[in-house]
Amino acid sequence: MDPEEYRRAAYASVDYIVDYFKTITERQVVSNVEPGYLRQVLPNEMPQEPESWDDIHNDFDRHIVPGLTHWQSPKFLAWFPANTSFPSILGEHYSAAFSAPAFNWICSPAVTELETIVLDWLAKQMGLPSQFLSDVEGGGVIQGSASEAVVTTMVAARDRYLRDAIASKYPTEEEKETAIAAARGKLVAFTSDQTHSATQKAALIAGVKFIAIKTFPEDDYALTGPALAKAIQEAEEKGLLPFYLTASLGTTAVCAVDKFAELADATKDYPHIWKHVDAAYGGAALICPEFQHYLDGVEYFDSFDMNMHKWLLVNFDASCLYVRRRKDLIDAFSVTPPYLRNEASDSGLVIDYRDWQIPLGRRFRALKIWFVMRAYGVKGMQEHIRKTLGIGIHFMKLIQTRADVFSIATPPRFGLTVFQVLPSKSGETANDITKRVADRINNEKVLFLTASTVDGNMCIRVVTGSPWATDKAMTEAFEYILKVSEEERRT
Ligand code: PLP
Repeated sequence: MDPEEYRRAAYASVDYIVDYFKTITERQVVSNVEPGYLRQVLPNEMPQEPESWDDIHNDFDRHIVPGLTHWQSPKFLAWFPANTSFPSILGEHYSAAFSAPAFNWICSPAVTELETIVLDWLAKQMGLPSQFLSDVEGGGVIQGSASEAVVTTMVAARDRYLRDAIASKYPTEEEKETAIAAARGKLVAFTSDQTHSATQKAALIAGVKFIAIKTFPEDDYALTGPALAKAIQEAEEKGLLPFYLTASLGTTAVCAVDKFAELADATKDYPHIWKHVDAAYGGAALICPEFQHYLDGVEYFDSFDMNMHKWLLVNFDASCLYVRRRKDLIDAFSVTPPYLRNEASDSGLVIDYRDWQIPLGRRFRALKIWFVMRAYGVKGMQEHIRKTLGIGIHFMKLIQTRADVFSIATPPRFGLTVFQVLPSKSGETANDITKRVADRINNEKVLFLTASTVDGNMCIRVVTGSPWATDKAMTEAFEYILKVSEEERRT
């Protein structure tokens, strides 16, 4: 493709994307394709000869787009949202053009410096404790995902624990190594039973044990200080070494917010336990001051992560990780062969983000964040959060109007409504009918929502954070869910 062909194709792609968004509401939210459909229409081998853009685009339109799930659609009510926005798309476009994997500052100073600046802006706007700002010992770094943020911090926590809590007790290198080897198999990470599975996966990767602490409906499924204290004590009695905790600000199933201040208190005699906040979805709400009270106690935490790519108008990927002490990451991840050394790095005056993450190379993700921050401003971002929250509350109220058909399972938070369909016949359980309703809705493909269990009870989760969502679309979604539920209760 020569530059003029690119110009033509890129202009046409903008028309395509604008038309896509203009028709998003009319599109069927999930695709009709069957598993393996693409193999049947694409060749078995890659093309030997260059092909024309028109041909490529034709096939994209005929074969790829029909296999897409439309996450931006107001009819997409599943999992959590994965926002995009026009300024964010533009950021990706430019970033792809520069393709500057800025692992060291010198690789592209603007890439590194913009990242530090936008993450500081975001931390201040979210009201994060000042320890997470880059001007003292902490700072932010963009990771690909909340899962990556957990693995990264867990590995740093493991190394810090082995160094500070184990090796430091012994005078000789040999003794240190023996003690570290003995401790490795005893390390244990904690979460609640509501925490996202990312922490369990991180424990697998880091080679440590993992304990999920039970939560209860009377605590709104939040992890409490006493529950953590008990779990730590029990683990220690078994000879385990607690070194890491993930607490959540908005769990996946029910958007529970753990009791950060209590958790900090429960660990005050355990300075080596790394406390991480997973605010992957709910953290976006902190852009509005009325939600910042949720941060009470986070000043005692070691790290905090929020995905702008869920609810804050930036497309995947943009997971914003903050740490209290950047040295903890650098100590764990800095490996510097001669070919990565340079004057700027050696001066100590610059950030080399390769030392704050698992991969070496990295994308220019700060650009799309900067574009979004500037194009929306704080006001626009707050409007987006408040508007979509309002739509979530509108849906929840509609559900409440039909207490004869639905029961709300957990207190609605961050726009998420979790409910069950009530049985109408003897012998039928709420679990049976709720599952039947969810399955039928997803099979009919009018809406897309998630069925999940809370405390063993089958529930339907409905949430929208799409900039394209409206009260009207949510009312229509409710009427459809009600119709299906009533029909299923009759059959
Ligand atoms: N944490 C929570 C609370 C989530 O809900 C999710 C995904 O929905 C994740 C972590 C994982 O996010 P990611 O896909 O960025 O790894």
